[in-house]
Amino acid sequence: MKERLRLDFMDHDYFLDLSNNPEKYYQEPFRIAGNLYFIGSQEIGCYLVDSGEGLIVFDTGFDFSASQFIDSIWRLGFDPRDTKMIFHTHNHHDHTAVTKFLKRLSGATTYMGKADAETMKESIAKNGPSLCEFVPDVETLDGDEFTLGNCTVKCYDTPGHSKGNQSFFFNVTEGEKQYIAALHGGLGINTLHWNFMQKTGYLSAREEFFSWIDRFNDWKVDIYLGSHVIQGYMIEKWKYRNEHPDENPFIDPTEWKRVLTIAKEMAEEMVEDEKAGRVEVVYQGEDPYKAYPKVVRHDGKTEVYEYIPRHKTK
Ligand SMILES: [Zn+2]
Repeated sequence: MKERLRLDFMDHDYFLDLSNNPEKYYQEPFRIAGNLYFIGSQEIGCYLVDSGEGLIVFDTGFDFSASQFIDSIWRLGFDPRDTKMIFHTHNHHDHTAVTKFLKRLSGATTYMGKADAETMKESIAKNGPSLCEFVPDVETLDGDEFTLGNCTVKCYDTPGHSKGNQSFFFNVTEGEKQYIAALHGGLGINTLHWNFMQKTGYLSAREEFFSWIDRFNDWKVDIYLGSHVIQGYMIEKWKYRNEHPDENPFIDPTEWKRVLTIAKEMAEEMVEDEKAGRVEVVYQGEDPYKAYPKVVRHDGKTEVYEYIPRHKTK
């Protein structure tokens, strides 16, 4: 069977369940490797690095999981007020909504890809301040690098899921060992549906997605991090490691390329399905990012997401 990942829509019913019952999606925080930790939920991937000179946070999650998010930092033994940098893969509210609170608490500097920062600023100017939106302190560009303590974060443009979408590569320190971790922000191919592109007015989304998809294939990545947990089987790996404490399934230098290959195949297949009328997107509500459109498949195809520890299959 062809391996697939969930790179498509959370549908509206699922979003309602998430927002009404955030405790159902609670995930206890955990160490991934060395000074890298998971602080997200069972849906959204949020990450923390202890740089030795303050905390670096990547994405902050939904507003309704704010208390869980802040609590996760405490539970790992850190003080959220020590956060110095907050990076964002993109400007969608499932990744940014706790930033304003964490920034007020810590005074951290906030980072976001330039085009997404501009969209957020325009939205604030037009609609007034909101809980989920803020003016990013630093608008990041392709190739930008930022260092705090023992960690250097490199930012690269991966547009398509959003115009200013970025992915981050950074070093993880575990004793004498160094790993390269990568958080991919641009694998949500849901925004590449033609009627989604029309709804958002981001008509070059598809073209931009395919422009970078082969760029990072051969980059060395030891630890792949999903911006939604299922994209990196983060929870499955956590469960696996609980049962096999002497193994670390998060360290897998083959995974990065495998995930990018699957993402490309799924995007190409989605374009084909759309052309052939096998899939359509039905909207519930006006805001395309908050209404979580429902994807209706006309071929009855169901998706299978199965985690197989790679180092077991070698
Ligand atoms: Zn998104």
